[in-house]
Amino acid sequence: EVMLTGERYNVQRLPFSHVSNDDIAFFERIMPGRVITNPEELKPFNVDWLKTVRGCSKLLLKPQTAAEVSQVLRYCYERNLAVNPQGGNTGLVGGSVPVFDEIILSTALMSQIISFDKVSGILVCQAGCILENLNQYLEEKGFIMPLDLGAKGSCHIGGNVATNAGGLRLLRYGSLRGTVLGLEVVLADGSVLDCLASLRKDNTGYDLKQLFIGSEGTLGIITAVSILCPQKPEAVNLAFLGCQSFTQVLKTFTTCRAMLGEVLSAYEFMDDKCMELVKKHLKLSSPVSESPFYVLIETSGSNSTHDEEKLNNFLEQVMTSGLVTDGTVATDEKKIKASHHFPILKSMLWSLRERITEALTHDGYVYKYDISLPVGKLYDLVTDTRARLGQCAKNVVGYGHLGDGNLHLNITAESYSHSLLDAIEPFVYEWTARCNGSISAEHGLGFKKKCFIQYSKPKEAVFLMQRFKAMLDPKGILNPYKTLPSSS
Ligand SMILES: Cc1cc2nc3c(=O)[nH]c(=O)nc-3n(C[C@H](O)[C@H](O)[C@H](O)COP(=O)(O)OP(=O)(O)OC[C@H]3O[C@@H](n4cnc5c(N)ncnc54)[C@H](O)[C@@H]3O)c2cc1C
Repeated sequence: EVMLTGERYNVQRLPFSHVSNDDIAFFERIMPGRVITNPEELKPFNVDWLKTVRGCSKLLLKPQTAAEVSQVLRYCYERNLAVNPQGGNTGLVGGSVPVFDEIILSTALMSQIISFDKVSGILVCQAGCILENLNQYLEEKGFIMPLDLGAKGSCHIGGNVATNAGGLRLLRYGSLRGTVLGLEVVLADGSVLDCLASLRKDNTGYDLKQLFIGSEGTLGIITAVSILCPQKPEAVNLAFLGCQSFTQVLKTFTTCRAMLGEVLSAYEFMDDKCMELVKKHLKLSSPVSESPFYVLIETSGSNSTHDEEKLNNFLEQVMTSGLVTDGTVATDEKKIKASHHFPILKSMLWSLRERITEALTHDGYVYKYDISLPVGKLYDLVTDTRARLGQCAKNVVGYGHLGDGNLHLNITAESYSHSLLDAIEPFVYEWTARCNGSISAEHGLGFKKKCFIQYSKPKEAVFLMQRFKAMLDPKGILNPYKTLPSSS
């Protein structure tokens, strides 16, 4: 069983009230049958997806409406009970599960689509809608969600917004800070902030929704989201390529941007260690010959002939110039254009990249780092970490959203050890700060990284964040122990 977070990290419980029988009776009255106290049922909600942190909450609430969330928070605020908002529990920084006995407030039953406007492409839905379900709903109407990530089958749109998730489509459609048009949020004292606008343009006063995007459940509970969705592209093509060096990965990216231009929708990379792990633990197979680096390129456009022609010209250029040594393509017609004679499905190519996170969990305890860096230096951090850790680590791998300058550096070991953690941190953060990078590109700070915020933000900025937190949540009941270091 995963060690309790409080014990592993030696954290002190803050003086919140303990949940009493009277509290449980109150919640039962406002949401009968949706108050869970059975320890067996609570288990998966107390442990994170990576199985690295564990809380000991004794109470899980499943509201269905913003009004219920409001009633819960008003009560918790008065009683000084701490609350941990939870979506699909796929977060990777220990933010989604309690540290001690915080009440878990799950959005699992808040999964209604409120409206979709086919002319504007604006979707309004409750926070607990699963990302993949939303995408399927939209596809039937000729649209897609502006974000996509490996956890799409479980993560909730509220969780995506709360973490400002990036993912696989950011290169094309931009971040949630641009596509989210409005939010409904319940504040710590139970008041409901209705900023659920469905307008592309609205310059009336401060843009308050931005404060909640990426706030990881520490400033309010997101109950509904209004989001701008792009048209479903008619033609989607994928290429999977092998490169002999990271320099070639970078040159291929430059060529790709120049030659694919507006149809380029993703540029992802992975190293040979990642390929080894997906082969070993998930029994996937590589469609190209062994290479030190692999690149996955996606184009999304409205004219398949035009896009295929562009992609083929690009492939010819990178193959003849030697930037790419082997490659394969899955097209809309699932035809093969390169070295193989059996059909390569797009889902097979995407799996190789999307399932690395899953493969890593089969390799042992995973130390995860999600770093933004100037793209030219992206892989140097992997090389330097590998050299530093030597035999102490089982595997040190690098992959990520290269087009966004986002590296996922992952280190595996047979089990958790303080000494290995000390060898990695703050080394990785100092290295990142020297390059003016960010220690969290898209996963957030959660529980595990909150104490390292100063590597990416000046103390004045952290102080201002603490003041916002104190103003919106004066008793600190919302997701305590997360995102910001304590102000004392
Ligand atoms: C296989 C895999 C692949 C992933 N790929 C990516 C990726 O490409 N890009 C990326 O950015 N992330 C990625 N992630 C991380 C994670 O999936 C995302 O951060 C996701 O957006 C979290 O959504 P969730 O519903 O699971 O939230 P949870 O994990 O439940 O919660 C995450 C945080 O948000 C808070 N929260 C959740 N719901 C609400 C709400 N309604 N109101 C307020 N706060 C809330 C929680 O308290 C917690 O702090 C991946 C994770 C996995 C497991």
